[in-house]
Amino acid sequence: MPAPLKVLFVSSEVAPFAKTGGLADVVGALPKALRALNMDVRVVMPLYAGMPWNDLEVLDGLLTVPMWWGAARGRVRVGRLPETDVPVYCLEYNRYFDRPYLYGPPGDGYPDNLERFTYLSRGSLELCKALGFFPDIIHCNDWQTGLVPVYVNTVEWLQPLHGAATIYSIHNLAYQGIFDGNAMFVTGLGREHYNPGELEHFGALNLTKGAIQHSTLVSTVSPTYAREIQTGEYGCGLDGLLGSRSHDLVGILNGIDTDEWNPATDPHLPARFDSANMEGKATCKAALQKEAGFPVRPDVPLFGVVGRLTSQKGFDVLAHALHRILSWDAQLVLLGTGDPDAERFFAWADAHYGDRFRAWLRFDNGRAHRIEAGADFFLMPSRFEPCGLNQMYSLRYGTLPVVRATGGLVDTVSNYDEGTGGGTGFMFADLHPDSLANTIGWAVSTWFDRPDHIRGMRHRAMAQDFSWTRAASAYRDLYLRAYERRRGHAFAA
Ligand code: ADP
Repeated sequence: MPAPLKVLFVSSEVAPFAKTGGLADVVGALPKALRALNMDVRVVMPLYAGMPWNDLEVLDGLLTVPMWWGAARGRVRVGRLPETDVPVYCLEYNRYFDRPYLYGPPGDGYPDNLERFTYLSRGSLELCKALGFFPDIIHCNDWQTGLVPVYVNTVEWLQPLHGAATIYSIHNLAYQGIFDGNAMFVTGLGREHYNPGELEHFGALNLTKGAIQHSTLVSTVSPTYAREIQTGEYGCGLDGLLGSRSHDLVGILNGIDTDEWNPATDPHLPARFDSANMEGKATCKAALQKEAGFPVRPDVPLFGVVGRLTSQKGFDVLAHALHRILSWDAQLVLLGTGDPDAERFFAWADAHYGDRFRAWLRFDNGRAHRIEAGADFFLMPSRFEPCGLNQMYSLRYGTLPVVRATGGLVDTVSNYDEGTGGGTGFMFADLHPDSLANTIGWAVSTWFDRPDHIRGMRHRAMAQDFSWTRAASAYRDLYLRAYERRRGHAFAA
């Protein structure tokens, strides 16, 4: 039996243990799919308040993590990813992680976030040494783990961990981990690493920059986003640097949890369906119209939208287009929380357009499922979208996405072709209320005038493969390439 490739994931959130966004879903699911490819995969994360502390096994001894103020000693607890033998090591250090939020109250970061995630990054390497687990690949995710590739190249110099290839995955470049340059001492790295070739970026300490400079290879969560972040429009100031590593930058589309998001088995739905039998979808639509307090009419097109109310998701553009959209014979339900101004506007619109627009301003997973199932169309007018999950859920539920042509939306939705009836959704390029409204108008007219095209698109949409199995084999190729780059020879499987 050949030795398996050893992979350590470091992440600040892992589903189902702690989640604020798509990152948690990736790190909750990808290791499972890699395990099925016979890799020795392990995961490290912080132990936060609200996690099932007592269900986790406490490891013997304490982990010692060098911090700027001295040696921090913390416990390590171990759980497993559900239905797998993949260990999840949770670093316990209550001073840093036993708090109400992962990163800080809404809209704000904790002032000691640099210190907190230094503990995670440095601690994950110390844990490897304590366990005698020397990974071939260390897979780091977003800025909270950005110091790991830097440590591997510096403090681990000529140590066993120096042989590990590092992958740095960008899940959202808008969050880079930017701190005052004077805080460099917190990282434990010498001031000599505060330079434009490593951690300094326009006069600040930038963990993402350090990670891009020091990692063996860089990845992001869709091929289109990988290209976009090398441009000024999407690069958030790091486009030049990413362009300089363009041969080492790979975009791999996220998968989705096809068990949780399966219209044939979904327990959140009033009726279930699949592409061979769509009657259940009609039942879901009627139930959603009822839930929204709309007239229950199978003939009217029902649009759904679910997501964080932030400028990333283009909710401001939707707000400006709303009046035009609702002047047609169409219905729209919205589920989301976020920006207080956006919430106020949609609450007003809910009262104003009561029989055709409903805004639920809360987080409600069951309702998200019912919208995906019951709607005919799903809106995502994103300003930028590294990958996006909702459009993949809607495709699987036969709910045609209306999306802006950006990031992962380009890689997952194909635009409707009126001539052939081809495609799986409706796309627009300009981030402008008129473009959004026109494209929704296009979907509405297709609904009324070419229902056979809508039926064909639905079947095509539902047949797409967004499983993690596909993504996992792309990551395996990436790991093997990184291994060879780091060691100078191929991995001997
Ligand atoms: P992002 O990670 O940028 O927020 P994604 O489309 O990748 O966007 O994933 C968002 C996930 O969060 C989806 O699973 C979506 O259904 C869920 N979600 C977002 N807002 C809500 C909400 N208010 N209620 C229920 N689920 C939500």
